[in-house]
Amino acid sequence: MPGQKTASKRLMRPKMSIRSGDEVVVIAGKDRGKRGRVTRVLIEKNRVIVDGVNMVKRHLRRQPGSLQAGIIDMPAPMSRANVMLICPNCNEPSRASRSILPDGTHVRNCKKCGETFDKER
Ligand SMILES: [Zn+2]
Repeated sequence: MPGQKTASKRLMRPKMSIRSGDEVVVIAGKDRGKRGRVTRVLIEKNRVIVDGVNMVKRHLRRQPGSLQAGIIDMPAPMSRANVMLICPNCNEPSRASRSILPDGTHVRNCKKCGETFDKER
């Protein structure tokens, strides 16, 4: 077996454990306690956009090619440190541990119930 036990080698590079489509709960800020689905992840900025959370008003001017004008609500990016993943299995905010399956795919597991987050992906 190649690559036996090089595990527990800590990578200092922060890796985003949140992906678009995940359900998260906000743990800090004015929207604390709100739940929503991640629509975008901005890895290089360490930010996420969560549907319905951290809404801001945008004043849009009518432009050629743009359908919307006036004031619209849109979710603004927020720090990923302010949200926590919700485990789809136990429905609780949870930390994710990463593991690598024997076939080399990375999965995230709930630290509470041990179920994988990435089942049907
Ligand atoms: Zn769980």
